Amino acid sequence: MRILILGGTGEAVALAGALDARGHRVTTALAGRTREPHKPAGALHVGGFGGAEGLARFMRESRFEYLVDATHPFAAQISANAVEAAAETGMPLIRLSRPAWQEPENGRWIHVENEVAAAAALPGSVTALLTIGRQHLEPFIERRDCRFIVRTIEAPTEGLPADFTLLIARPPFTRQAELALMRRYNVSHLVAKNSGGAQTEAKLEAAHILKVQVIMIDRPKLPAAATVSSVEAVLEVFDQLPPPRRLFPFLP
Ligand code: NAP
Repeated sequence: MRILILGGTGEAVALAGALDARGHRVTTALAGRTREPHKPAGALHVGGFGGAEGLARFMRESRFEYLVDATHPFAAQISANAVEAAAETGMPLIRLSRPAWQEPENGRWIHVENEVAAAAALPGSVTALLTIGRQHLEPFIERRDCRFIVRTIEAPTEGLPADFTLLIARPPFTRQAELALMRRYNVSHLVAKNSGGAQTEAKLEAAHILKVQVIMIDRPKLPAAATVSSVEAVLEVFDQLPPPRRLFPFLP
């Protein structure tokens, strides 16, 4: 089958590899924001499509037969575009969304809707570890009364104020390393997006142990779509599809 995977996650890379190995013709689409993305198996499309309409046109012109939305749970626009484009083209869509993290019993999470609300939820004069990526840091830059440790995979494109501490690091992170980091900087608050997944979960365990206040940005609401939570579940869907009908069954 010709499958278009909307990527930008580790799961998308794993899925592309597995579908390619099963003989499917896979193309992974990336937004093009990361300077050195992991290269998935199969073909690569880098850059936006021009909204839902552009995505629908791309799917039609390249004769895809199936669309997989394996983007990050916070990439709300492209997920909405996928639903709209699938409806417009009549193409089947499956969304792969890893399970959200659950607050532990006696957890100290404050749930907020976005970065602005997260910055507003910080009391004055605290030390906060920000693990929300390199975009949308402006609301925190405005909080001159707090100290910030910003951890990102790639450096932010805009410079940060001189008193911000920038740590460039790529997951996975271990609980030991997260405990050491929080202790080293005397972190009192952790700001995180509820991305889910094992690679960056250790910070929540460390915060729980050290009684660090977690400010959790909840996932954006997405339009309804058939959704599974693991690469294996997507593969099962494809493995159960009937083989494609051949126009000339007598030909090899
Ligand atoms: P977004 O706000 O949902 O999308 C904005 C626009 O970027 C889309 O309308 C689309 O442009 C383009 N785009 C997004 N993902 C694309 C993809 N996989 N392939 C081609 N075009 C794409 O997305 P975002 O939050 O900026 O995330 C961008 C990418 O980074 C996604 O692939 C996502 O999986 C990955 N990512 C996001 C986060 C996060 O926290 N948001 C974290 C880790 C990884 P057009 O309308 O022109 O098609």
